[in-house]
Amino acid sequence: NFPIVYCITPTYWRYVQKAELTRISQTLQLVPNIHWIVVEDAAEKSDLVRNLIEDSRLIVTHLVAQTAPYEKVKDKNPKARRHRGVEQRNAGLRWLRDNLVAGKDKGVVYFMDDDNTYSVKLFDEIAKVKRVGAWPVGLVGGLNAEFPIVDKATGKVTGYKSGWLPNRPFAIDMAGFAISLDLILEKTDANFSYQMAKGMQESEFLSYFTTKEELEPLADQCTKVYVWHTRTETPKINGIIPNLEV
Ligand code: UDP
Ligand code: MN
Repeated sequence: NFPIVYCITPTYWRYVQKAELTRISQTLQLVPNIHWIVVEDAAEKSDLVRNLIEDSRLIVTHLVAQTAPYEKVKDKNPKARRHRGVEQRNAGLRWLRDNLVAGKDKGVVYFMDDDNTYSVKLFDEIAKVKRVGAWPVGLVGGLNAEFPIVDKATGKVTGYKSGWLPNRPFAIDMAGFAISLDLILEKTDANFSYQMAKGMQESEFLSYFTTKEELEPLADQCTKVYVWHTRTETPKINGIIPNLEV
């Protein structure tokens, strides 16, 4: 009795795009009851993504939402980097709210960036989410892992181990939580925004839905790492083979 897991994936063209999407689509093929919402940061749907979706044999909703040019990440300096994936995640949320029915449709919503590494075990944890679940994320925020700190006696989250602003109301990476579809459909004002302070997207978004005390700590009381915030090196390409999708 595995719930539908709606995975919202922002994605954009670069040489590693097909490799990243191949990796996560094949992870999703190992999980029952996935509905993958792929949102291209592009003016139009690309053949590359369309072909990959067709090959995946997953249930997929394919959308586009282009990041406004002035919001694009231009600067190499990480301090100057803007939020990424904002408009794509919002497009995914909008699709859920426009196409699914509160009270009737059931499931869990997970923001699944295209470049992270996901264990199939993570989805057994996502399946347990009642309202908002949270778990550790590996290789993020300057630590080998960030995680909600769980009081063993009460089983409640009391704080966060995080390399980046641990005193945020929710010091959790995008890959470290999932929200019930019921809540997503109920709290229609909850969206991502460029107005949110740097590093505060997750915390401000989660604040619409829950409190620290109500968080459901998963992955063995937040002691297991089933997702890693990996980042792929940009390959040096000195020549292009024509008419070849890579
Ligand atoms: N992304 C996007 N457009 C961009 C940059 C990123 O759609 O211009 C997507 C990307 O494919 C990923 C998510 O937004 O799914 C987060 O981006 P990234 O992994 O680069 O962010 P970081 O890991 O550095 O936080
Ligand atoms: Mn990333």
